[in-house]
Amino acid sequence: MRADALTTPRAANGRAPDVFEPGGWVPMREHREQDEVDFAIVGTGAGGGTLACKLAEAGFSVVAFDAGAYWRPLEDFASDERHQAKLYWTDDRIVDGPDPLKLGSNNSGKSVGGSTVHFAMVSLRFRPEWFKSRTKLGYGVDWPIDWREMWRYYAEVEEALKIAGPVRYPWGPKRPRYPYRAHPLNAAAEHLARGAEALGTDWAETPIATLSAPHGKAHPCVYRGMCVIGCSTNAKQSVLVTWLPRALAAGAEIRDLAMVGRIEMGPNGRATGVHYHREGEWRFQRAKNVVVAGYAIETPRLLLNSACSRFPDGLANRSGLVGRNLMVQLNQAVWGQVDEEIRSYKGPPSLAINEHWNYADAGKDYHGGWAYMSQGPLPISWARSLSGGRGLWGRALIDEMARSNHSVGLKMVGEVLPYAHNRVTLADETDQYGLPIPRVTFAIGDNERRMVAHALDFMEASLEATGARERWRETDDTCHLNGTARMGFDPETSVVDADCRSWDVPNLWICDGSVFPTVGGANPSLTIQALACRTADRIKELSRRGAL
Ligand SMILES: Cc1cc2nc3c(=O)[nH]c(=O)nc-3n(C[C@H](O)[C@H](O)[C@H](O)COP(=O)(O)OP(=O)(O)OC[C@H]3O[C@@H](n4cnc5c(N)ncnc54)[C@H](O)[C@@H]3O)c2cc1C
Ligand code: SF4
Repeated sequence: MRADALTTPRAANGRAPDVFEPGGWVPMREHREQDEVDFAIVGTGAGGGTLACKLAEAGFSVVAFDAGAYWRPLEDFASDERHQAKLYWTDDRIVDGPDPLKLGSNNSGKSVGGSTVHFAMVSLRFRPEWFKSRTKLGYGVDWPIDWREMWRYYAEVEEALKIAGPVRYPWGPKRPRYPYRAHPLNAAAEHLARGAEALGTDWAETPIATLSAPHGKAHPCVYRGMCVIGCSTNAKQSVLVTWLPRALAAGAEIRDLAMVGRIEMGPNGRATGVHYHREGEWRFQRAKNVVVAGYAIETPRLLLNSACSRFPDGLANRSGLVGRNLMVQLNQAVWGQVDEEIRSYKGPPSLAINEHWNYADAGKDYHGGWAYMSQGPLPISWARSLSGGRGLWGRALIDEMARSNHSVGLKMVGEVLPYAHNRVTLADETDQYGLPIPRVTFAIGDNERRMVAHALDFMEASLEATGARERWRETDDTCHLNGTARMGFDPETSVVDADCRSWDVPNLWICDGSVFPTVGGANPSLTIQALACRTADRIKELSRRGAL
């Protein structure tokens, strides 16, 4: 176990860790701070890491910063939930509002590779109508992008990550089969499948970003089930082991343990570079373009913390929408007990999915969609569900934990509508770098309450149909963070345009889940990566036209 990754940068002196070789290194191009690089990218997760790769491969000079450590999964990752908390963003944040969010493990990462290092790998395309939900479905706002264009980029990402999924996906427009065959169902997934059939709906093997056959230097999944605390075999196709090795090979530089605190603005209204904290001191990297890709809390925080005399309300904030329209996703669950052994932690957590209610509009008294998936919680996470969701403690908790191999559950991912009052602002308190910390204010709406009620009833009916007894509902969980710097058609009602370029500062870009105008009922990372691929193509095209 190498503890030094949290204190000493590993990407330095012309080399970066080789994530495929214990103790190995790969060469890394380095840039001087006084050199004006083409792109300084803040964040190396689903958005920033993918974009760094695509821009470097297009010949741009790129430096990508991440506040987190550069892990070597084969050596650094333990099968231990507590130890692996090192992957989460646990810096202080204030949460308030009627329904304060639980932050940390379930929704934000702090590593080179971002939250994908500990994400659950579910890789779904959005329903086409969601890109025009206002026009076609009567709620939310339209995206300034057409779904057909996104389809091309989804295919690119699915191929790059060798997504394992079914031959025929039952929902949405016809599409080719997934690049790799689906993983076999575990017992928890079989319950979902049987329940879905009993209720007259389709189900499918969940398309997931872990290998079902070898790919390059990575081996197939061995079903250890540690995915959400970091995969120590590299079967999981996180950004750390996919886009970033490609980015390095194409000449990108990655700076780990590098916290960006402010974007510097020049007198001409263009960004000139980023101030970042690394190895105990503040430094400055000059750049022709700055991309913010810090996820939906840190992205608006950095834009607001970069306020200056010309932009006193923060950068890219003419609309007043930086930080607003924060959208989590609903993550409620139903659990029950069965006679047979389930051992639901065996294998990736979600191996079967039902997206019926993402695509069906009749029979709902609310707007938006939701999917549900089979589950495989690890022990600490399961104990938290039992204590938080059922109020079990002491002997009762221990007894229930002893029965966990017979527990089975279904969990939703549900759409939260964009509300301006759900937002990120700056608090008066500061963090270890002296930077104002974010305040996250959140309230669930009546629309969402109706959706949750429907989803819980449906999931419970599914479990009942497969014989689960002693059913109970976990009602207060949320996951995934999006919104807070939405893309749109108009500078008055959005923060960035369809190219993810800020309306106000022409060389400032945002490339992460912050730009989502709506979030749908599907996990977001495939869409974030597809958007990053599209943004890279748009940047290439603008550069060709001399319009950067
Ligand atoms: C437990 C868990 C399970 C999940 N499961 C799924 C799933 O199954 N499917 C799915 O689609 N999605 C899932 N997600 C969500 C998915 O991981 C995120 O939506 C996605 O990674 C977000 O991409 P991003 O680029 O916006 O941010 P991230 O991937 O989080 O990357 C942001 C990076 O920016 C860095 N950063 C932030 N601010 C700064 C700064 N100022 N300076 C330097 N660095 C900075 C952070 O350290 C971080 O590494 C899951 C998330 C979690 C936590
Ligand atoms: S189940 Fe597969 S993807 Fe998950 S940790 Fe194990 S090997 Fe990695």
